[in-house]
Amino acid sequence: MTSHKLEWDTPMYRLAVAQLDQTAARMQLDENIWERLRTPQRALVVSFPFRRDNYQEVDTVFGYRVQHLLTMGPTKGGIRYDEDVSLGETTALAMWMTWKCALIGLPFGGAKGGVRISPRSFSQNELQRITRRFTSEIIEMIGPDRDIPAPDLGTNEQTMAWMMDTYSQQTGHAVPGVVTGKPVEIGGSLGRRDATGRGVVTCVIEACRHLGIALEGARMAVQGYGQVGSAAARIAASLGARVIAVSDLDGGVHDPHGLDLAQIDACMRESGSLKDFSGGERLTNAELLELPCDVLVPAAIQNQITAGNAERLRCRIVAEGANGPTTLEADEILRRRGIFVVPDILANAGGVTVSYFEWVQDAQQFFWTEEEVNTRLIQIMQRAFTEVLKVSQEKGVDLRTAAMMRGIHRVAEAKRRRGVFP
Ligand code: NAD
Repeated sequence: MTSHKLEWDTPMYRLAVAQLDQTAARMQLDENIWERLRTPQRALVVSFPFRRDNYQEVDTVFGYRVQHLLTMGPTKGGIRYDEDVSLGETTALAMWMTWKCALIGLPFGGAKGGVRISPRSFSQNELQRITRRFTSEIIEMIGPDRDIPAPDLGTNEQTMAWMMDTYSQQTGHAVPGVVTGKPVEIGGSLGRRDATGRGVVTCVIEACRHLGIALEGARMAVQGYGQVGSAAARIAASLGARVIAVSDLDGGVHDPHGLDLAQIDACMRESGSLKDFSGGERLTNAELLELPCDVLVPAAIQNQITAGNAERLRCRIVAEGANGPTTLEADEILRRRGIFVVPDILANAGGVTVSYFEWVQDAQQFFWTEEEVNTRLIQIMQRAFTEVLKVSQEKGVDLRTAAMMRGIHRVAEAKRRRGVFP
């Protein structure tokens, strides 16, 4: 195995590789395929300037696009705007996308991209210029048959609309299929906005059924009230769960009797932050993770459940909306404590599943109703959960290992069939 220092060697990359190594060893994976899967197939690092709003200042920032595996079809994965974005983080996220797509059975390899900025520091005009320039920097890598970006942390439908427009301007005609998670008016899919959250909730329902917990009245705490977390909270509440705490970058709010999410949404629309919400007790993001509850949904960033707090978690289920929220050591502690973890590559796969539906709809120029989208999404998520649970029971492994085994097995078979070129 590769032991020299790699350009993308960071803690998050090490977590992704450690997960791969553990699973591959257990599966007795072909060593040649194993070695190939530990590193990305393609990675592009760019630095580019953009004008600040005063037009005098020009800032230079770094951007990344990583394609982990080109074997399965075009690559697919989100674009992240965050101050911690690096080649290692982007590579880890691309790798997780590979397992996720293979696990669900989507015809994509994994990719990820990002720009190292703190999006809250920039105006909408500045973000638009950053997005357009970043798109043109990575334009050779993307395309509906090559690599299809989507929203992630710090990016949204509007970001995707700017990317789609920039790509289309260069091509000379509208190319909606170059990104997913875009607005419905330009070829987005109904149901995409809530898809990741809906997938998380579908897994929570299945996990509750498996463990004999009633969803009605179940207490849920959600870290991160963004695209994933807010949809998961709202959908779970609509099905009878009691959302007792939510948080964002500025901390969270807590009410053991259940929060009024409509009021929270109104507050978010008005001020963009939970810190102005008065309908509950304030708490920190760290405190939220340790609240007594039935279901904990980390839906913000990575590295939140660690060896430092895993002993203090007081939930029965962790459903990972975020990518990489649990460290390897914490995973072990949760396993020992009997906390049921639905891993990221399964729990948050609803997003890429409906992104796949969007890509299919764009290719066919034939659009589905929201009900069709949601019904198919729920069926796929239920099937994936059942299959992963079965593997976990048959092999006596946790759900993360079982999910990775399924994903890696599929990829390895595809690689074996295609062979090595030349
Ligand atoms: P988002 O930007 O819409 O929301 C992120 C939320 O987390 C916000 O409430 C933000 O305030 C909060 N947050 C950010 N940094 C934080 C910090 N340091 N501590 C506490 N809270 C913090 O992002 P999103 O699209 O909802 O993504 C959230 C997670 O879900 C990420 O890990 C992402 O990779 C993963 N994910 C997203 C999708 C998707 O479809 N958007 C799909 C699969 C997985």
